[in-house]
Amino acid sequence: MVDGMRIRRALICFGVAGVIGAGVGYWSWAAGGTAPARKWAVHDESRPHPPVITPGTESTQAQPGKAPSDAIILFDGKDLSRWKPVKGDGEAPWKVEDGVLVVTGGGDIVTKEEFGDCQLHIEWAAPAPASGQSQGRGNSGVKIMERYEVQVLDSYGDAKTYADGQAGALYGQYPPLVNASRPPGQWQTYDIVFHAPKFASDGKVTQPATATVLLNGVLVQDHAELKGTTAHNSPGVYKPHPPKQPLLLQDHHNPVRYRNIWIRPLTEERP
Ligand code: MG
Repeated sequence: MVDGMRIRRALICFGVAGVIGAGVGYWSWAAGGTAPARKWAVHDESRPHPPVITPGTESTQAQPGKAPSDAIILFDGKDLSRWKPVKGDGEAPWKVEDGVLVVTGGGDIVTKEEFGDCQLHIEWAAPAPASGQSQGRGNSGVKIMERYEVQVLDSYGDAKTYADGQAGALYGQYPPLVNASRPPGQWQTYDIVFHAPKFASDGKVTQPATATVLLNGVLVQDHAELKGTTAHNSPGVYKPHPPKQPLLLQDHHNPVRYRNIWIRPLTEERP
């Protein structure tokens, strides 16, 4: 009898605790917190479908392809309206010629919009005929969040520069897995999946940035964990920064060309 009462009391306590717990969970969600993750059964018919988009088309050497329908077009051959100089709000100091963006030596350019986690597509061509040596040979760069550089360089064939500075490298940190470079003058593609780093309130890194990079359709970085801001002669050090920052294209005083630049911001919540 006594044992029975104890069991009943325990059940009531668990029940009350459960109701309070659920209430706190709902309050937290309703107050703008993270919605409790729902687990779906296999093949659950009520599971929401992902958004429907129209995929893009492949580029050829003669013609850039089309971006997916949900991408933000950063350069489509017309103008630099989505870009500005690193400092100030004036005109981006690069030129648009025959539908192509050309580095002029006027300084780095950044997007007006800021991005965090993203899928980025960008096409570039090193100057032809090739000129310069090592890091002076068709050098530019795609700096995600203004600081994590996927190197742009004429690395065709036997790249005569340090491995972690050739095309497809995360500059100074990771050489590309293979050298999939095309000859200077030919269009090359980068497809990049990037996840921004996360920082604690005291500035410590709680989650490093990661980058997956395909050069000309070939995997050259496989979810590489960045060690911090990429820089010349530096192992990479993190400095805390906001969760979104502009995309930067580097002006290394070589007339590298760009075309067909688009980005798809990635959300944390995936279907
Ligand atoms: Mg560079």
